[in-house]
Amino acid sequence: MKRIIYISHDQLNARYGALKTANPKDDLIVLVESQRMLKPEFGSKVRLYFLLSSAAHFVKELEDYGYTVIYQKSATTVDGLKEVLKKYPKLPIIAATPSSFRLKQSLSDLGVTFVENDFFLTPAKVFTQWASSQKSYLMESFYRTQRIRLNILVEKGKPVGGAWNFDKENRSPLPKGYKFPPYLQHKADEIDNQIARQLGIKPISDFATSRAGAKKVLKNFLDNHFAHFGPYEDAMTTDNWSLHHSLLSPYLNNGLLHPSEVIDAAVKRFEKGDIPIASAEGFIRQIIGWREYVNGMYWHLGQDYKELNHLNAKRKLLPLFEDADKTQMNCIKSNLQDINARGWVHHIPRLMLLSNLALITGTNPQEFLSWMRRVFIDATDWVMVPNVIGMGVHADNGVMMTKPYAAGGAYISKMSNYCKGCLYDPKLRTGDNACPFTTLYWDFLDRNQEEFAGNHRMAQQLFGIKRLKDLPEVKKRAKEVLAGLDNGLI
Ligand code: SF4
Repeated sequence: MKRIIYISHDQLNARYGALKTANPKDDLIVLVESQRMLKPEFGSKVRLYFLLSSAAHFVKELEDYGYTVIYQKSATTVDGLKEVLKKYPKLPIIAATPSSFRLKQSLSDLGVTFVENDFFLTPAKVFTQWASSQKSYLMESFYRTQRIRLNILVEKGKPVGGAWNFDKENRSPLPKGYKFPPYLQHKADEIDNQIARQLGIKPISDFATSRAGAKKVLKNFLDNHFAHFGPYEDAMTTDNWSLHHSLLSPYLNNGLLHPSEVIDAAVKRFEKGDIPIASAEGFIRQIIGWREYVNGMYWHLGQDYKELNHLNAKRKLLPLFEDADKTQMNCIKSNLQDINARGWVHHIPRLMLLSNLALITGTNPQEFLSWMRRVFIDATDWVMVPNVIGMGVHADNGVMMTKPYAAGGAYISKMSNYCKGCLYDPKLRTGDNACPFTTLYWDFLDRNQEEFAGNHRMAQQLFGIKRLKDLPEVKKRAKEVLAGLDNGLI
């Protein structure tokens, strides 16, 4: 053996990263399961099941290719690598650049040599070049640069379909009685069963844990959901947990799928002619735009960004986040149940329900970030830090997003069917039946009037506050709501 190749649990792909140039004769492959990963602070059992079972399948895949693989269990990743080095003291360790500041630092301190992390479509240098030339980091401007740079949905420098963005067409609630195709289920194999047993849970059949399974999910999306993805991508419903979402983020974020193969397949499918441009563009934007932008911003904004708390939000994490029975808000309860079942809800509940609730209750951003990191199976540091600190709770003073994503019950009621089965009324802002979102939305704006006074994108909302005749009653009810949420009674 000539080298040790270290593979992290989010780089499970034999065609990219450090494995791109590997061969079974010269390279010893090492994965490390650290004790830290097994602690509840790291992740829920559902999240752990997905990560560990995917890694175990990947180890098997590498062994089938003829590789010697060590799956080392140790207190920390570095301890695990040191254990392996005891047996192979002369071998250098190679790894793709890790996807978090913490791991990058600890591997670097150990003397690991990094090769480029090519699990993204945008090399670090290219992102830095773009970011350094911007006055404000608008995702839309990055996305258009990406479309041209990668030559995707572009003809002679112009966007296919006549516009760069079809978002306005992509905000429809679901029509009444809307029918979805059946869910794709994944039968547990012996590896899945063993990991589930080890964790004391049942295998999760909603997500695949192997590359073969992940490819089936991609095919299922393109065949059965892609055409309808756009118009209903922001809709929420109790009738279906995945709607027309691709469900690809877990595999993109642990390496089982690479963004280039997803994009190639989506463009090819679009070129057949029966996928509306609004759906194709909306999906492609998520992959070449948003995903790449968030990763780029994670590195560009630096390690201290995750500690920001510009709005000085001090509330402790609400008990409902840990226990869905501690709330009667139908929208929140329903999403928490989905998260408990499979560690996934789509981007709108994450932003407009969970983060919105953390934002308008003034929940401490770091406590909320830590919860988001723990519960979602596709969570990683690079995904969650910018999404929560920047987009979700506006703790960065608008570095990423020009305005906070605060909304009351009217938005939730328009985009979902949650309110029909709820104890609360989205139209009411005062009284015992007032929707907590509606009350707290106005209270949040009132509390932060000075803060947002110079932000022209908030002008309309702040003007709304001035027209509220019952503001004193709203503020009084907000106090009751916040106390109720703190005690798990709302
Ligand atoms: Fe959620 Fe308010 Fe609607 Fe209840 S009424 S489901 S709390 S938005």
